[in-house]
This record gives sequence, structure tokens and C-alpha cells, in this order.
Amino acid sequence: VRITVDRSACELHGQCVEREPRVFRFAADGSLEHPAEADESLRDGVADAQFLCPTQAIEVAP
Ligand code: SF4
Repeated sequence: VRITVDRSACELHGQCVEREPRVFRFAADGSLEHPAEADESLRDGVADAQFLCPTQAIEVAP
């Protein structure tokens, strides 16, 4: 699962971090961190995070 986050759209509210902390996390400087690619087993969590993101900043590609 390939993941991209539109930094200009992300408002750092953290719904994605709450839903799938194995993929999304906040760095020490407060910025959002995520791998460019997550394991297939995390697809549901990533899809939920994408759905929950209030600014639709998360893009998921197969
Ligand atoms: S849920 Fe969306 S806006 Fe909030 S931190 Fe995650 S990517 Fe950014």
C-alpha cells in the first residue's frame, strides 16, 4: 500500500495517528511521519485513516 499525504492539506489533527499508529505518527518536531509504503496487512487501517482524515490529505494507491 503506497501512501502519500498532502502536506499543504494536512492540519495535523491526528485522526490518522489515532486510527493507525503503526503507520502514522507525530515526530518530535510535531510533523506527521509515515512510511511511503505500508505492509498489505495494514491496508484496512490506512483506508480507515484516509476516510477519517478531515481534510482528505491522505492518498492511498495499490
Ligand atoms: S488525519 Fe489528515 S489532517 Fe489529520 S494528521 Fe492525519 S493526514 Fe493530517
